[in-house]
Amino acid sequence: MAKDPVCGMEVDEKDAKNTHYHQGKMYFFCAPGCKEAFKKDPERFLKGGPVGMM
Ligand SMILES: [Zn+2]
Repeated sequence: MAKDPVCGMEVDEKDAKNTHYHQGKMYFFCAPGCKEAFKKDPERFLKGGPVGMM
């Protein structure tokens, strides 16, 4: 399992539909909303950890 960096949920890599490649690493998301939030400001989630959806 991979961890959704936005909300902290566990995501199964095998059927993940929401993925994003960032700085040489693949990230997995539970929903398109999490992926979009990450794409807008990746550093916020990588440095601060999961902050949840607003
Ligand atoms: Zn999520």
